[in-house]
Amino acid sequence: TADPNRPDVLVIGGGIGGLSAALALTRTGLRVRLYERAAEFGEVGAGLQIAPNCTRILDDYGLLDEATSLGVRPEHMVMKDAVDAGELTRLDLTDLQRRYGFPYMVIHRSDLHGIFLRACGRAGVDLVTSAHCVAYENIGGGARVRLADGRTDEAEVVIAADGLHSVARTLLVHDEPVNSAYVAYRAAIPFDQVRGNGVHEKDVVVYVGPRCHFVQYPLRGGRMVNQVAVFESPKALAGAEDWGTPDELDRAFDGMCAQIQKGLPLMWRDRWWRMFDRDPVMNWVSGRIVLLGDAAHPPLQYMAQGAVMAIEDGWVLAEHIGAQRARRSERASGVDWEAALAAYEAVRPEHCRRVVTTARAWGELWHHDGIKRLRRNTLLRSRDTHDYTFTDWIYGPTALTPEQEPELYPTIPLDPVNG
Ligand code: FAD
Repeated sequence: TADPNRPDVLVIGGGIGGLSAALALTRTGLRVRLYERAAEFGEVGAGLQIAPNCTRILDDYGLLDEATSLGVRPEHMVMKDAVDAGELTRLDLTDLQRRYGFPYMVIHRSDLHGIFLRACGRAGVDLVTSAHCVAYENIGGGARVRLADGRTDEAEVVIAADGLHSVARTLLVHDEPVNSAYVAYRAAIPFDQVRGNGVHEKDVVVYVGPRCHFVQYPLRGGRMVNQVAVFESPKALAGAEDWGTPDELDRAFDGMCAQIQKGLPLMWRDRWWRMFDRDPVMNWVSGRIVLLGDAAHPPLQYMAQGAVMAIEDGWVLAEHIGAQRARRSERASGVDWEAALAAYEAVRPEHCRRVVTTARAWGELWHHDGIKRLRRNTLLRSRDTHDYTFTDWIYGPTALTPEQEPELYPTIPLDPVNG
């Protein structure tokens, strides 16, 4: 007889990608078990920007109100020059919401992670911690995983949401994370510590400067502020092992504007995040083993779409599973997995390839110095605030098929300085 507890799907990794995928699949009626390596579920206590292409999905899951109550809906996204603090361009996020139908939101990571964790609990996902997956294998009609303690488990499909250093990815490609030589420092602190420092209370502000940038936005109903300080590490460029250390932080922002100087002493100095991405790959499916989230497409964070893409992946996969589902039998889920996985793989890798490569280009533009910086500033200042040419492809509804994926942008504008 069939094991009534046997899951249809195993999800490996309990980050935002794995939890949101587990929830999405459970909503289609599948039995899902999730394995997380850590002893407890959790996320870093810093901020996360969530664009309309993701709040649309949170709404579909019935989680948008809870997210809104815990987060902040900023009024503008403002880009400034880090050297002279002059404004370069802005997005009016109220108008953006009108255009895309859903809000732009910022939220504490652990709040969003907690929302998904609780929703998975309510939906009946079997959540297992202290489960370190070390091997994956396709078997007849499904896939099997092996844990570090020797346990094995199997299901019709295994979704690997195991992040940047994914073990499952090695089944598909033998690549290494690409080191950008940039490092991020973070801080989420009471707003009172920065009030009066010229900090915008209701906006996301990004200061872009030579080989560095600095981000500030409110969190938790405006009671906190999130700061991110990112810079290119000279030690990384010199090939040193020990790079991105706090002494480099102190030097990286020399000569930047007063607002940044006031924010820098408040950064957490006991941990930092070295910025790696990977070159895009277009094959994410090996038999019944599927990549999702950073395991498939870790980006540099300059588009603020890493977690968003992971959440979109799970939503798209679940939509195709729902469409390819016949009746459950005693032993099987009734999903035509080959069709569902092929539909997922037909659309998501290309979208994520665009985001990963655009994030690299966007980062380069942010970090220009000298004449390139001045040209960039001219270009950005000439942009109409309500021109959505560069955001439609990303903030519009998540495509389910390649045909629905919009053009990246219709035309690349000419350099206004050199014609
Ligand atoms: P992860 O969050 O890495 O989760 C992987 C999970 O799998 C972890 O819980 C890990 O413990 C577990 N795991 C790993 N290996 C195993 C194993 N072998 N067995 C079992 N479990 C395992 N994105 C946005 O959308 N908006 C932003 O504003 C934004 N800002 C960012 C700012 C910074 C400074 C950085 C560094 C990133 C930012 N991102 C942002 C990107 C975003 O954080 C990631 O893309 C996202 O968290 C990826 O989620 P994930 O679940 O795929 O992977």
